[in-house]
Amino acid sequence: MGLIVQKFGGSSVADAESIKRVAKRIVETRKAGHEVVVAVSAMGDTTDELLDLAHRVTLLPAPRELDMLLTAGERISMALLAMAIRSMGHDARSFTGSQAGMITDAQHGAARIVDVTPGRIREALDEGAIAIVAGFQGFSRDTRDITTLGRGGSDTTAVALAAALDADVCEIYTDVDGIFTSDPRMVPRARFIPRITSEEMLELAAAGAKVLHIRAVEYARRHGVTLHVRSSFNNKQGTIVYNPAGPGLDAKGAPVEEPVIAGVATDLGEAKITVVGVRDEPGKAAGIFTTVAGTGANIDMIVQNVSAASTGLTDISFTLPKSSAQTVLNALRAEGYTDLQHDDQIGKLSLVGAGMRTNAGVSAELFRALADAGINIEMISTSEIRISVVTRADSIKAAVTAVHTAFGLDAETEAVVYAGTGR
Ligand code: ADP
Ligand code: ASP
Ligand code: MG
Repeated sequence: MGLIVQKFGGSSVADAESIKRVAKRIVETRKAGHEVVVAVSAMGDTTDELLDLAHRVTLLPAPRELDMLLTAGERISMALLAMAIRSMGHDARSFTGSQAGMITDAQHGAARIVDVTPGRIREALDEGAIAIVAGFQGFSRDTRDITTLGRGGSDTTAVALAAALDADVCEIYTDVDGIFTSDPRMVPRARFIPRITSEEMLELAAAGAKVLHIRAVEYARRHGVTLHVRSSFNNKQGTIVYNPAGPGLDAKGAPVEEPVIAGVATDLGEAKITVVGVRDEPGKAAGIFTTVAGTGANIDMIVQNVSAASTGLTDISFTLPKSSAQTVLNALRAEGYTDLQHDDQIGKLSLVGAGMRTNAGVSAELFRALADAGINIEMISTSEIRISVVTRADSIKAAVTAVHTAFGLDAETEAVVYAGTGR
């Protein structure tokens, strides 16, 4: 007998029928003799609908109240799921994040977990019950307020519970069969990946593959939690995200021949800001990015052009989440930067693979594939195991399709997307 944490995403609990289907699945795990803790997301697109509602009431909802509103979504699904399980003759109890001991800092909308004290969950398990925990939410001891972990954060709730309860495995149930070489909604011929290292998954998640919340992957890596990403619509084995014992070794310490490319991710959630006509002298970049940092925005890529000799002026461009762009533009204007350009029609494509370390020529091959598809590259950035390029947003689908084919990643058959709107 083991302890299993199971997380069900919004598309897996979108309506009453789906909730009953998921309840059956949880009961089967319990019947097999395991202790079961479940982290559940809000039903379907509930979180987006609540956000839309808030923005219809006010342009700038107060962060504390927004968290109060959004956490209601997970309260609905947790209670319904517990009811469904009880109606099947098994004891189940639902808990809010706060009741489950998810202690966070006070940063509304992006709270970080500082402690997990799952006393009530342990008690419920000891009494033979199934514990259902509302995902994505916590409680700040400092402010005594309810917080949320950021969009997609239920994955992180599940991993944090798995670590705190020393679970045998953390299963992430979703609307696709696991992790693929690209988003199957974008690239139907995306290929299923049976096993992926946490290092590669981190880069894919950071590059926009929202199948896993990046902080869930980080947390799992740090606490040695094995993740199993699989479909809630069938019983197929999904993808194992594992932490190899060392570079080039698998979990058992055996050498592995890694494929050069693990996958291609896309991100349509970023915008580009250009500060035009900056004097090319020491301290200018520091000034701009101190102002930007003051807003709390996460900057992704930065490009500075060579200055024109005649004017001594240069342009500095950077990318950031679309949702932070207005705040950053306002902050820069307030500091006297008046010549600003804002472009929210960009898309980012990233090629990720640990095998890139030892393979020269991957960038050349990537740029060639994009050139052959007639796609212009506007910005480039690299890490040890990733190359990212910025293109026009409307060419991103053509770009990812071309690159996926060029690197030999296409599968024989099309991947299945079982549910969800991809919102
Ligand atoms: P959930 O509601 O279960 O949390 P998400 O919508 O957050 O589900 O994540 C699942 C979705 O992630 C899939 O439907 C798919 O469109 C998307 N996705 C993006 N990149 C990948 C990838 N590399 N492999 C699998 N799915 C991906
Ligand atoms: N319901 C939240 C969201 O839509 C959390 C989650 O689903 O992981 O972002
Ligand atoms: Mg998700």
